[in-house]
Amino acid sequence: MRTNLDNPLAIENAEFDCLECGRCCYQREGTILVSAADLVRWHRERRFDVLDAIGPGHFSQQAFQHGATGACIHHGMPGAPHACAIYATRGDTCREFEVGSRQCLEFRREGSMASGPCPDPNEILSRTVIPV
Ligand code: SF4
Ligand code: SF4
Repeated sequence: MRTNLDNPLAIENAEFDCLECGRCCYQREGTILVSAADLVRWHRERRFDVLDAIGPGHFSQQAFQHGATGACIHHGMPGAPHACAIYATRGDTCREFEVGSRQCLEFRREGSMASGPCPDPNEILSRTVIPV
């Protein structure tokens, strides 16, 4: 797990349940960009289902389409409503997003209209012993 918080030890010891969270997958349409490397990989993998679910993105790039919930169209699986359905071949933007980062904590705190707030990250941190 990577982190860029002031107290890396605290975050390293905290548990982040990405597959049960998925808050960072709720963004404005067109903002979860896909890279040129993603496009090449999905062609090589013959993931035409993924390629077909791409639409116009910001900065004249391409991005994941979004579903009715407001989340990325790949967000949610049967029995796992916040898991990524294409996790093994998810986009570079998703891979590079830092779990435990300030932005991750902000997304978790604010939650989404569809899924509600995640457990308070401060509660997670309160369970962590912080050296003085
Ligand atoms: S917001 Fe953070 S904890 Fe939640 S899925 Fe994204 S990276 Fe994981
Ligand atoms: S591809 Fe997966 S990890 Fe990336 S935004 Fe969509 S659901 Fe989330």
